[in-house]
Amino acid sequence: MAFPQAVLIREVGPRDGFQNEREVIPTDEKVRLIDMLARTGVRRLEVTSFVRAEVIPQLADAEEVLAQIDVPKGVALAVLIPNEHGLDRALAQRGRFHEVNCFLSASETHNAHNLRRTIEESVRDLETVIPRARAEGLRAEAVISVAFGCPFEGAVPMERVFAIARRLADAGAEEIGFGDTTGMANPVQVGQFFAAARHALAESVELTAHFHNTRGQGLANVLAALGAGCHSFESSFGELGGCPVPAGPTGNIATEDLVSMLEEMGIATGVSLERMLAAAAAVREVLGRPLGSHTLLAGPIDWHPAA
Ligand code: ZN
Repeated sequence: MAFPQAVLIREVGPRDGFQNEREVIPTDEKVRLIDMLARTGVRRLEVTSFVRAEVIPQLADAEEVLAQIDVPKGVALAVLIPNEHGLDRALAQRGRFHEVNCFLSASETHNAHNLRRTIEESVRDLETVIPRARAEGLRAEAVISVAFGCPFEGAVPMERVFAIARRLADAGAEEIGFGDTTGMANPVQVGQFFAAARHALAESVELTAHFHNTRGQGLANVLAALGAGCHSFESSFGELGGCPVPAGPTGNIATEDLVSMLEEMGIATGVSLERMLAAAAAVREVLGRPLGSHTLLAGPIDWHPAA
């Protein structure tokens, strides 16, 4: 297998992670954690969501978070946008972030549960949202959830996922993320999926893998995606993360586990493992519970231990 020399990582813990915690993390703690993450070397950071507060009360402070964080230049900030109303709210904060991340599901049942609309209705909405965001000078990513399997419907045909992806790319999405939202993907499937995706979509479209570690297969899936030409990944510090429907403790792959594996393989991430571990330790302290991350427990590998 041929691997790339470098990859891009988008840290999504402050959004995918914080929205799935039972409690609402105080805004000043979110700001402190985001400021730590922004200094790990990670170049992409998803910080919040403009989903309605009644739906996701955990992220109701999106405006305050964006106003208060202090992020070094060179870190692209992304916000999650569910629909045109969310875009309107986000655009009132223009200048404080760089990317919008739109989303929908590849299965009708999951989309109905998560967004209360059909896939066609979601795609049409995003065909308005994405060009509007681009016209404002924002970069646009679209994430397709349950792209590798749906907890309600089972198998999801690849061609259906690619057909949705093509329409979003045609609408102006520069990056398409494929979400294994409930951890159903296996490495063989992932390898075939990304190889086919590269053919199905224009070369200019960046392909991103968004794996959850629900069944412990997240990093194996990363390796398969890497081998099939995917160079962009989304992950959460501390292995935070989940999915509102169906509810369950299903974290993203841990950023520190991802960074540890890739750097040990000689693949540059740009991320300081030490600083990422410090951020993960800080969020563990805030949440007051053990987290799924392995490297957070074990520490980094020391190839030159003192005798
Ligand atoms: Zn996720």
